[in-house]
This record gives sequence, structure tokens and C-alpha cells, in this order.
Amino acid sequence: MTGKIIKGIAGFYYVVAESGIYECKAKGIFRKEKKKPLVGDNVEIEVLDSGEMTGNIYQILPRKNELIRPAVANADQAMVIFALESPKPNIGLLDRFLLMMELQHVPAVICFNKEDLVCKDQAAELEKIYLGCGYDVLFCSAKQNEGIDEIRKKLQGKTTVVSGPSGVGKSSITNLLQKNVLMETGEISKKLKRGKNTTRHSQLILVDNDTFIMDTPGFSSLDLIDVSDEKLRFYFPEFEPYEGRCRFNGCVHVHEPGCQVKKDVSAGVLSASRYDNYVSFYNEQKEREKRRY
Ligand code: GDP
Ligand code: ZN
Repeated sequence: MTGKIIKGIAGFYYVVAESGIYECKAKGIFRKEKKKPLVGDNVEIEVLDSGEMTGNIYQILPRKNELIRPAVANADQAMVIFALESPKPNIGLLDRFLLMMELQHVPAVICFNKEDLVCKDQAAELEKIYLGCGYDVLFCSAKQNEGIDEIRKKLQGKTTVVSGPSGVGKSSITNLLQKNVLMETGEISKKLKRGKNTTRHSQLILVDNDTFIMDTPGFSSLDLIDVSDEKLRFYFPEFEPYEGRCRFNGCVHVHEPGCQVKKDVSAGVLSASRYDNYVSFYNEQKEREKRRY
């Protein structure tokens, strides 16, 4: 029987199949292959007890991709949620998340919640910066139930990693998105009682047919995936058109003279906050490499 892992906790995997949710263990073959089942994996299971709904996973079907942070499989895209106010958006964390997704080749969408708390100008400024980098930017107010349909459209038919700091409205938005599948959700939550403290684990939530969100733990201490300082610029999409336009070939846009990126940051063509975060990530990676050798 084929199913999908929606949660893994303490050696148990919860697999949704057509006939319900099975509590499974992973058997033998994985140890040989050194392959660990991940949330999001499509798997083959054998049913052990159809009354108790228990089974064994005996095969992981081929993955579309495999993320390291968060550790999930088959993510089509990522959505990062911040609040426009209460708490104020932490742009450093936002850029770090976007970088992490670029490094893992997962397209990212940015969602700013609590639109009801700010004036239009504040939202427009952020929108300009991130649209300018090529990211989709959505605004919503979970409180006023506004902008939720646009989010729903963006998620339709996909599996989306959702992340963001606490207090920004992730659960409020998730609840609104789940409205039309509440019955299934009820069944799932009953099943998942085990392991109450679930915030440290990723979990798949059904929001529509073939539409899942991967609820992931907060990412305040998101350390960067290994990438050399020399290559970091390739993961800031807005720098792409600048390749070959600086005085020096292979300019990393930090200390070099005649750098077109730096000129355009000064001129306000490129976002200064994005650039500053780029430089701080660059230094972070350089430090890390120094420590290693
Ligand atoms: P989470 O920690 O990211 O899951 O955030 P919650 O969904 O628990 O929301 C945190 C707080 O923000 C709660 O008090 C919510 O009522 C409030 N909140 C959520 N969305 C909105 C919004 O759109 N506008 C306003 N003003 N408050 C919101
Ligand atoms: Zn340059």
C-alpha cells in the first residue's frame, strides 16, 4: 500500500494512505542504505494490523528532493511568514531563510501577516525590495480573514514548507487554510496524540486535495548550510545580472574597487538591507572556513 509520511516521532512514522493513517516503523532495508524516512516521503507499507492501523514501511519511493534544514522530502516550494508589526519583521532572519532555500533550490514565497496593524507605505516598501529580488510577496491579515484566498491559490496542488518566527500568526493562518478539511484534520490530530510536544518536529498538514503544508519548527538559530564565501553571491538572485559587470572578474561585491553592485546599492537601485545582510553572511562563511583550516 502506498502512502505519505506526515509525521515522524520517536521511531514511529505516521503514514496517510487511502484507508486512513497508519502508525508505522521503518524496517531493515534503511539501515543498509543509510536512508532515513523523512516527513513528506512517499512510501510503500505493509499493514500489520488493520484494526489497530499499524504497519511497516518497507520502501521509500524516489524523492523529488531532500532538504537538510528543515529535514523534509518532496517540498515544491517554501513560504516564510513574518508579521508587519508585533513582532516587527526581522529582515536578517528573512534573508537568511531565503538564502537557505536558494541553497537548496526551493522557490520561496514571502507572506507578511498582520496587515491590519500598519499603514500601506510600510508594506509597500517591503514589497518593492522583495519583488525586486524576484520573490513572490503576499500580504494578509489572519485577524480580518483577508488575503487568505491568495495564499490558498499559491499553495494549490503543492507541498509547501511553511516557516517563520513565533507570534507572527502561523497557526492563525494555518487554521484558516484548514477550514475546509477540518474532518480529516480532526482524525489526524487524534492519531497524533502521541508526542504532545510536537513543536520540534516537522509535520505535514492537509489543506486541500493534493495540497499540503509542512509545518516546521521555528528557525531563530538557523545556521547556514555550507557554501563558500566565493559562491555566496550566486544565491542572491538580484546580483545575477551583475555577473561580469564589475571591474574585476569574479567580484564578490564586498571589498573590490569598481564594483557595480556597491555603486547601485549607494544609488538606491539595489536594496541596502539585502546587501548588508549579504555582507554579513559572507563574513560568517569566511569565518567558518578560517576556523576549519
Ligand atoms: P504563531 O506563533 O506564528 O503561530 O502565531 P499565532 O497564530 O499564535 O498568533 C500570535 C498572535 O497574533 C495571536 O494573539 C493572534 O491573535 C495574533 N494575530 C494573528 N494574526 C493576526 C493578524 O492578522 N492581525 C493581528 N492584529 N493579530 C494577529
Ligand atoms: Zn562587484
